[in-house]
Amino acid sequence: MDGMGLVNLHPPARGITLHREHWQAMREHVSREAPYEACGLVAGKDGISQAVYPIPNELRSPVRYRMEPRAQLAAFEAMDEAGWDLLAIYHSHPQGRAIPSAIDIAEAAYPVVYLIWAPVGKTWFCRGYWLEGKRVQPVPVRLL
Ligand SMILES: [Zn+2]
Repeated sequence: MDGMGLVNLHPPARGITLHREHWQAMREHVSREAPYEACGLVAGKDGISQAVYPIPNELRSPVRYRMEPRAQLAAFEAMDEAGWDLLAIYHSHPQGRAIPSAIDIAEAAYPVVYLIWAPVGKTWFCRGYWLEGKRVQPVPVRLL
């Protein structure tokens, strides 16, 4: 299979478009949970966000996250019911930068955009990545 075919198989690599209120909801969530990592899901349609689901980090760690399974399942059920797709998984690096860690890359299991939030001065910013195997590809994060 050639490279173009691979690109066509993975449309999320084109990035994600976030409604400003969803971007803001994530930013408030990751800011509130610091110094612990925060995590959650973004659902939507055609690459455009329709909802954000903050999920408790059951590790309550400043350097790791694991989504609490019942809250994660409830979010997946709500998305299904609404007819939305999982577009992105987000989490924060309160002490680090907005780039995937070795563990983030190793544990990336979904064909979705990975959004990573990190503090920059007094505020927080996020960047998007497509993670597959050991490859890390930055993808666009657009705001509506
Ligand atoms: Zn991480």
